[in-house]
Amino acid sequence: MLRFLLGSFLLACTLASCTSSYPPAKIRVLILDGQNNHDWKATTQATKATLLASGRFEVEVSTSPEDKSASADWEAWSPDFSQYDVVLSNYNDGGTCVWSQAMKDALVTYVEGGGGFVVVHAANNSSGDWPEYNRLIGVGGWGGRTPASGSHMRLSDSQWRPDPAADEGSGSHGPQHEFVVETQETGHPIVEGLPALWKHGKDELYDSLRGPCENLIVVASAYSSKTDRHEPMAMVLHFGEGRVFHTPMGHVGGTEAVHCVGFQTILARGTEWAATGKVTIAPPADFPSEDAVSLVAPAEVIWTP
Ligand code: ZN
Repeated sequence: MLRFLLGSFLLACTLASCTSSYPPAKIRVLILDGQNNHDWKATTQATKATLLASGRFEVEVSTSPEDKSASADWEAWSPDFSQYDVVLSNYNDGGTCVWSQAMKDALVTYVEGGGGFVVVHAANNSSGDWPEYNRLIGVGGWGGRTPASGSHMRLSDSQWRPDPAADEGSGSHGPQHEFVVETQETGHPIVEGLPALWKHGKDELYDSLRGPCENLIVVASAYSSKTDRHEPMAMVLHFGEGRVFHTPMGHVGGTEAVHCVGFQTILARGTEWAATGKVTIAPPADFPSEDAVSLVAPAEVIWTP
């Protein structure tokens, strides 16, 4: 009887492990939005559609209060980060963070404890007055940032390093245009198996971002004719036990940036890496080449610019 019970127990454990492995559990994503100098509703829709299309994620959204002066509403905004594998910010307060101290502390504790964090486009303009946020995102632009906010990342002798002496401003971009994204950290899971050079749909090419740059690794970059140097386009860093993925790409004004299959792939793979430390999402067949963009609307995008 004991052997039967033991056998049943082992069989149950085996079945449980099988059912938990195939298919793998979906990664739980929380998108933060509600403040932005961009159309954040459209950006959230495109982001959510891109993640869902990969089949790897389930996505929820937490939207901030609208009125920055409604302090009671902000005190009440407190998503439970512990319910998610990764938090993705599509949130830009313009530089002055009005989150409650408890919510600020909760995000920092969450990532330090192993949670994932993803920063897309103008979310790196946010909360310039919050030192821990600047450490989380590595570098940022606008939002009250000054030379005191930290360094630019610079490519020199095939190495990316913070350059404390450089001062090219604190966030800028030229007219939107198509540009080539180039892998810098060959072998990083986010870009492994992707072409080393691919043409991105028309987007703002952010330059002169600056920040603490702690543990910051530039995974991919793009040459800016405006600054005559490469600018980071995909970055990662470790923050305590957690992982951060940061892409300055993804402007929503037109649709080309978020319809770019290259951007969608980097966003989904970066989000998976931030959540798990691994990437299982395969490169799509219609990934762009160095010479030609590849634009596809994510399946569930229903908005028009
Ligand atoms: Zn933009």
